[in-house]
Amino acid sequence: MRTIGILGGMSWESSAQYYALINRAVRDRRGGIASAKIVMHSFNFDEIAARQRAGEWEALGAQLGDAAAALERAGADLILVATNTMHLVAPAIEAAITVPLLHIADPLGRALIAQGHTCVGLLATRFTMEQPFYAERLAGQGVDAVIPPEAQREELHRIIFAELCAGEVSDASRERVRTMIADLQTRGATAIALACTEIMLLIQQQHSALPLFDTTALHCEAAVEFALSD
Ligand code: GLU
Repeated sequence: MRTIGILGGMSWESSAQYYALINRAVRDRRGGIASAKIVMHSFNFDEIAARQRAGEWEALGAQLGDAAAALERAGADLILVATNTMHLVAPAIEAAITVPLLHIADPLGRALIAQGHTCVGLLATRFTMEQPFYAERLAGQGVDAVIPPEAQREELHRIIFAELCAGEVSDASRERVRTMIADLQTRGATAIALACTEIMLLIQQQHSALPLFDTTALHCEAAVEFALSD
């Protein structure tokens, strides 16, 4: 079995899901008490989010690159960045390691195409929705991304940072996100990407008329596939 390296703590609420999902998937496939080989670096998200707000992406790239290199030295055969947003600095992380980085948008794109979806609604942080790195990665796989309008993007960003990353799940916020999903459907989306690793804490399939593609689950499945295919 290969060792999975995880850059986590962004936030730990979703990293905890990664840890559980990866270990459960290994147990389901190998049986008994089998579990995943994992090395994790867990950041203080308060410090990371402050740098995001300040637009210090170069420094963040160096910081995550250093941590990824340390995971490689600790035995990681593959690196996961357990957040969609921080894939904004994926090139800097890749430059710091010799093992592969499993880009979170790749298993998402593959799953969408496999189920015939070429137009997806993105629910994510403002960084992921507004900067080109994520939509371009999906476009490279044949998937167009549509995003909510400005006011909804601001509200979703607030829900992610002020509530979900702080462990708060609210019915009122769930209703607001359901409205966003309905609007994205009228704009052509045939599926919704939960392109923030905490959104699945708030929205599950029973809350959406459109099929949901959860990047946390897809990223974990792809990592387990890699780890067990040695
Ligand atoms: N976990 C979130 C994501 O998937 C947001 C946290 C962050 O800004 O890194 O984008």
